[in-house]
Amino acid sequence: MHRPDPHSYYDASQPKARRLRLKLGVDFGAKRLDGEVILEFGREISGVLHLDSKGLEILSVQVPGHGPVPWALDAADAILGQRLCLDLPAGTIEVAITYRTGAEAMALQWLEPEQTEGKVAPYLFSQCQQIHARSMVPCQDTPVVRVAYQAEVTVPAGLTAVMSAGPAGDEATADGRHVYRFTMPQPIPSYLLALAVGRLASCDLSPRARVWAEPELVEAAAWEFAHVEDMIGKAEGLFGPYPWDRYDMLVLPPSFPYGGMENPRMTFLTPTLLAGDRSLVDVVAHELAHSWTGNLVTNASMEHFWLNEGFTVWAERRILRILHGDDAAALGWAMGQKALEDSLARFQNEPHLTVLRMHLAGIDPDDAFSSIPYEKGARLVAALEREVGEERFLRFIRDYMDAFRFTSITTEQFCSFVEAKLPGALEAVNARAYLDKPGLPDTSPEFHSVQLDTLSVLAERWSDGARPSAQQIASWKPAELQVYLQKVPRNLSQADCAWLDEHFQLMGRGNHEILVEWLTLAAAAEYEPAFPRIREVLLRVGRMKYLRPLYGALGQHTRTRALAREIFAAASPGYHGLSRRVVASVLEQYPA
Ligand SMILES: [Zn+2]
Repeated sequence: MHRPDPHSYYDASQPKARRLRLKLGVDFGAKRLDGEVILEFGREISGVLHLDSKGLEILSVQVPGHGPVPWALDAADAILGQRLCLDLPAGTIEVAITYRTGAEAMALQWLEPEQTEGKVAPYLFSQCQQIHARSMVPCQDTPVVRVAYQAEVTVPAGLTAVMSAGPAGDEATADGRHVYRFTMPQPIPSYLLALAVGRLASCDLSPRARVWAEPELVEAAAWEFAHVEDMIGKAEGLFGPYPWDRYDMLVLPPSFPYGGMENPRMTFLTPTLLAGDRSLVDVVAHELAHSWTGNLVTNASMEHFWLNEGFTVWAERRILRILHGDDAAALGWAMGQKALEDSLARFQNEPHLTVLRMHLAGIDPDDAFSSIPYEKGARLVAALEREVGEERFLRFIRDYMDAFRFTSITTEQFCSFVEAKLPGALEAVNARAYLDKPGLPDTSPEFHSVQLDTLSVLAERWSDGARPSAQQIASWKPAELQVYLQKVPRNLSQADCAWLDEHFQLMGRGNHEILVEWLTLAAAAEYEPAFPRIREVLLRVGRMKYLRPLYGALGQHTRTRALAREIFAAASPGYHGLSRRVVASVLEQYPA
């Protein structure tokens, strides 16, 4: 027996599924999927097969032509869930499992109509990364196994289903519901399975790009992301032809726990990106870049997550540099530096979670999640790029994509490839210090621009009375203001807060990066005029990136700690399970 992924029961001595055929009935009343999955192996197999499952009720296991198959579910492991053991007869080519999802399925969030923009229909969305596909469908839930899939999703009349796949028709059913069909011909890791069901409308942005959202938001979404085709073109210039046919996007309700999720053919996005000024499209550049780095060349397990995220952050800023220039990219790196420092501080007592090549046996990958694989990883990629030069590095990246397309690889495979193509480069940048040592190496690349340095100096001199001029206040772009606020000292006085709010009109900002940066400063200063806005944001938005610093800042003082607990009690039922866990872990660090 050989288990290559500590987060899966997949046994490498057993056959891999090649394709899934899914039938899902969406039951909003019971908050349940009634599922059938057929795992195709593409050849005759037999014997023991181990699958991942979590909270699933298994109803039957059949091999077509043979009949029922003996099966057993092992005792549940808190992180991995239950191993589903099948004993397949000789000549098995495919196996069919009927099942129901459980009430606590982490992959699925069921929203009441009140939690949506339109407030008239319920909504369902999935989030399978890191290891939650097993709570939606029994499968080999590891990126080592890649599957094509087709699906048939039956939903109540009036609702629309979308998936991380191409549409393949839809029709009304005899019992008054509606069935949507999908096909994903390219092999994907299970964490990229994705489904959303709700009252949805769409708008075409180009012949291959479309945005989906609730009807109330679709116009704003189409405006915000209007330039996506330009972005796809720039990304193709870097990495080669877009490999997934369509690039569609879905703007989700505000409880979506991430900024974006790179589900192929259907990127999922938080509505907090709808700033009204196209200032937060860096998240779209990030999710788009994943079409190559992550979705095409994939980490073999969450122990190699930096291969997905480090490359994608580097690629995102490369795209931004082409679109908006060196200054914009430097601001992006500065924002990343702040996120990296926050994560290093959070894990100061868990240094093993600050290395890139992680060892996660017995550790929940959601607990290991931080900006470190993103930003430390991107700095290693940038260091390699600086070492060998941009042109040579870009040729290397294209070779890397060609060599590993539609495969899932380890850090060790990556290093061997670099050694073969760019001999000596890993050693020259001291790659081992990134991969195996905690913290950030002193030699890691720095990113400067005149404007970034101006912002830094001005913010650092806040305590000496330095303030932005009226001309600066009027001319700063959103990213500049965000970086400035990030660099202002954390211990502001009430008068400082009042000055900032008055001069930058912070309370009414629609750009959530600026708004949340400001509210975090205000919470840390116990600045009472901001409390109603803090409450409003925390009750509405479930994006983990915002919940962690805001609840963290509220937790620092007795009075705001009580406020934090009161808000969490009210907001918690509306949060995604992942967000709820994050807030609980933030608040439990503080005395009751
Ligand atoms: Zn990413």
